[in-house]
Amino acid sequence: MSITTETSSNGQYRITSDDINPLTYKEEFKCWGKGCGIWIDADEVNWATKNGQLNADIGYPYCDACLPEEKDEVEKRLDKLWSDNSIQFPRLIAEIAGIDIGEKAWDELLESMGLESDQLSELFDRAQEEWEKIKEKNCPINP
Ligand SMILES: [Zn+2]
Repeated sequence: MSITTETSSNGQYRITSDDINPLTYKEEFKCWGKGCGIWIDADEVNWATKNGQLNADIGYPYCDACLPEEKDEVEKRLDKLWSDNSIQFPRLIAEIAGIDIGEKAWDELLESMGLESDQLSELFDRAQEEWEKIKEKNCPINP
């Protein structure tokens, strides 16, 4: 019986196993947190980007102790995006443009805004283009 540990060439990943008892098989990742370097079980890894943003399922491994700060940063970033009218208004209009609002609502909108049908279509198109740009800028991973 021998327990072996194989470490990846970049030193960030290791497997510990035992020829006889498969239950000892363990995959671990080294925490990417600055000055941390502890080993984390594969199923307890928090995946984040290199600079600690939690918006990816893949990327760099972090332990729980290193991440709370990063989680706060992500929360703050999301709060900022949510409270920004120049982001949420185009989003709202683009989402409305993406559903079938029906002839009645369409006509009521034309009436209340004093617009022709093609002008309203243009506004919806512009909102959708704006929203695509916003998504590209703020969410490059999941556009
Ligand atoms: Zn850590």
